[in-house]
Amino acid sequence: MRQKTGPANRQLIRDINLNSLLNLIKTEGPVARTRLAELSGLSLATISYITSDLLDRNLLLESGAAESTGGRKPVLLEIRPEGGFAIGLKLTEFSVVAVILNLNGEVVYSERFSLELREQGQAAIALLGEQVQAFILRSGLAHQKMIGLGCGMPGVISSEDGTCIDSPILGWRDVAISAPLGALLKMPVYVDNDVNSLAIYEKLFGQGQPFNHFLTITLGRGVGLGLVINGDVYRGGLGGAGEFGHTTVVIDGRRCECGNLGCLEAYASDRGIVQTYYEKNALEAPASLLKEPEKEALRLLEKARSGDQTALEAFKLAGTLLGISLANLVNLLNPQLVLLSGSGAVAGSILFDPMHEALKAHTFSRLADQMRMTTETAGDESWARGAASLVLRQFFLSPVNNGS
Ligand SMILES: [Zn+2]
Repeated sequence: MRQKTGPANRQLIRDINLNSLLNLIKTEGPVARTRLAELSGLSLATISYITSDLLDRNLLLESGAAESTGGRKPVLLEIRPEGGFAIGLKLTEFSVVAVILNLNGEVVYSERFSLELREQGQAAIALLGEQVQAFILRSGLAHQKMIGLGCGMPGVISSEDGTCIDSPILGWRDVAISAPLGALLKMPVYVDNDVNSLAIYEKLFGQGQPFNHFLTITLGRGVGLGLVINGDVYRGGLGGAGEFGHTTVVIDGRRCECGNLGCLEAYASDRGIVQTYYEKNALEAPASLLKEPEKEALRLLEKARSGDQTALEAFKLAGTLLGISLANLVNLLNPQLVLLSGSGAVAGSILFDPMHEALKAHTFSRLADQMRMTTETAGDESWARGAASLVLRQFFLSPVNNGS
């Protein structure tokens, strides 16, 4: 389809060429200009024009020389890691974890600061703006080197509109973020669901790099899922895809935080596992469970490790329900890789052995045969790193996956 290209379109095409070229240099670098021309289908003149612009902007490095059969050795290009920086924020109820990544996706500065965000809604944006300005100053890095800010938060997020549609944990509904925060900070601001951000990071810089179909499952405060399908994150119609924690596992089961009955999260989150323990002992769960579910779950894990049968059973029930639910996902999506992360992954084999058993029992045919599974106990910083990768994803726009 050919359209008349006006000045605005020409600028857009130049931007797309520039970002997809950056993506090629990221994945292929160190790489020669001639090779870039072959791979991109762009003319050598266009490549030279764009790369000299990128070199002027300090985004590229010219390095060594390629193997050459006589004659002049071509100069190789690669990304200059400190050519620009991306800020990532993980928003939680009472604090913000903030990181700054270089263009290689490496953390160069990080902090956690207290900020009352719960129920603050639109009022939080101005507060956040001030805090981020101060954060950049403390990092000692120049404001103009920041190529953007990414915000990851729990809930249903419209990354297209840059709006938080509904975040029950934060108590935010219909809060515009990208436009007002971007205006305050004078840089592009991207938002996404926190688990999606984590999956994008894995695709760009982490274990997901070689795979086009993988799942990131997070355990802990809740049960989250980031879906990478055909090489890009899958968000669904409203941006709410991946509410794995709220799939039903017990008919007329326990009441979940979302209001529904029998959700996976009501059994397999920190709070759910501890709840099972108290129910099995016919005891009332302590009030502290609502406020500090992670601490309570760690306490229960200690009990399970020292041989407490009821504690072991509570983890076993969570693991089994998780395994059945995961088998449903595998049967639907046939992923190449499943990444298990989040603070809840610290439970290890006490949770994962029953999970693997149930997964094996419920997976169709040999769908799980070639599937890899890895576990990592991701800390708060990895969530913020995920948020920053929303910026780097735009920066290294893939020519195939250029939707946002
Ligand atoms: Zn639920």
